[in-house]
Parts: sequence; C-alpha cells; structure tokens
Amino acid sequence: MKEQLRIGNHLSSSGGYLAMGEEAVSLCADTFAFFTRNPRGGKAKEIDPKDVEAFLAFKKKNEIGALVAHAPYTLNPCAAKDNLRTFARETMADDLRRLELTPGNYYNFHPGSHVGQGAQTGIELCAALLNAVLKPGQHTMVLIETMSGKGSEIGRTFQEVRAIRDRVELKDHVGVCLDTCHIWDGGYDIVGHLDDVVAEFDDVLGLENLKAIHLNDSMNARGSHKDRHARIGEGEIGLEALVRVINHPRLCRLPFILETPNEHEGYAKEIALLRSHWQPGEDHG
Ligand code: FE
Ligand code: FE
Ligand code: ZN
Repeated sequence: MKEQLRIGNHLSSSGGYLAMGEEAVSLCADTFAFFTRNPRGGKAKEIDPKDVEAFLAFKKKNEIGALVAHAPYTLNPCAAKDNLRTFARETMADDLRRLELTPGNYYNFHPGSHVGQGAQTGIELCAALLNAVLKPGQHTMVLIETMSGKGSEIGRTFQEVRAIRDRVELKDHVGVCLDTCHIWDGGYDIVGHLDDVVAEFDDVLGLENLKAIHLNDSMNARGSHKDRHARIGEGEIGLEALVRVINHPRLCRLPFILETPNEHEGYAKEIALLRSHWQPGEDHG
C-alpha cells in the first residue's frame, strides 16, 4: 500500500468511466466521485461494459482507490408524496444494480428532507427505503451523508444519521460519508475542537463506519445551516483546519473528495496543495 493522501474530486460522468479515470490521473487524484446519472434525476444511460473493462484495468494500473459515486441530489428518500418516494427507491435500486459492474465502491446519498413530516418520520422513511433496496449479496457500500440541516433536511446530527442506520437490517452495507462543510454548517466545531468532534462521531456512529470524507470549505459561519461550499482555504473553515482533518490519525487513510467550486485547474491546485500538507502521524484508524 503506497503511503500517500488518497484524494480526488467530483468529475463529470458524461464521458464514461475510462474518461473519468484519465481525468483523475491528470489531476494527480487517486480516487474520485461522480453522479451516477444527471444530478437532477432522470433516466441513466446504460453502462458500456467495454468502457468498464478498460477502466478497471486502468484503475488497477494507476492505483486508483475506491470510488465514491453520488446519488442524484434531487432524490428524496423521505418525501411526503408517494410518487416521489417511489422515484427515490427505483432510482437507488437502479443505481445499485448498475454499480455491481464496478464492485467494491461506495454510493453516497443525502438522507433527504422531511418536508414538514418531522425528523422522526423522515428517519423512518429513509430507513424503509434502504431496507427496500439493499440486497444481501451486493458489492457496493451505501453511505449516508452528514447534512447541514438546511430547511427540513435529516441527517443534521450524528445521532440522526445513527437513527437511520439503526433501522437498517443489512447494516454491513451501510456506512457514513462525512462532509466537512455540512457538519460545520450543522454546528460541529471542526476548527477549534476537531478531536472532540471525531470522538463524538466514534461514540455515536463508530469510526469503523466512516468510509469517506467530502473535504470542502464553507462560505458560512458555524451553525448557519446553509450548505454553500467554498474552495479550500477560502471559507470560514480555512486551510489550517482542513489540513488538520486530512492529517488526523483516525481520518488520514480515508478517501477525501473535493466538492469545491472549481474547474480542472483549480482542482489540480487544491489536490497539490493538500498533498503538500499531508504528514500523518501514527495510524490509529
Ligand atoms: Fe452530497
Ligand atoms: Fe458532500
Ligand atoms: Zn453540500
């Protein structure tokens, strides 16, 4: 296993898997994220098995680690309307079916907005969706993303994420993706008290269930519940605090995904900047 920071960014999937792999390598990335279909939902185009085959060889040769696919953000597992919940369930089931072509990766999703039904109902509905789509033999781990608590979002605290996971039967297939912008906006002080936040995550959810980190700065103050990502070092979290996140002994071996407002050049710079600051201590993870 090579000793370096595992980092990448969110790439466009319109050109297929191999194109994403090549772009990742050109950015000095060794993981990446992508939307499994148009982020606004809609029908996904069928995956080309030849593209997958070429990509898997390329991935191995270039030591690209686990990918972190992202469900469309319009999918609302705890919508109030039946037809919207059906759409969310069918979309996730279809994404998981297609991800079986590239086994061993992650699929992260937003637990959704309860739209006035209350967090408790939202939690039940989200767990019900997971129980409907997860299959015992699947090869993709589904990750619940920690949210900022904008509007009626659920998953705004580690306890809410746990409440969802607790209700899932096939827990082995469900982990967590921690978004630094979201938890900061949700009120967690990762600038002043990172160790305490990591310890709280461990107490509530278990660090062994943390599988990926979305590394973003935030345009807003802690506790703002806004969810607006900033470039690394240009927001309220700041470079120093984000460098402490990538070097934290219990986080430093996770895949870090940038979802910052950048084009190709900006991502290349952020990846290089963070690599230059990676100096993890002993691995306790
Ligand atoms: Fe997300
Ligand atoms: Fe995110
Ligand atoms: Zn966000």
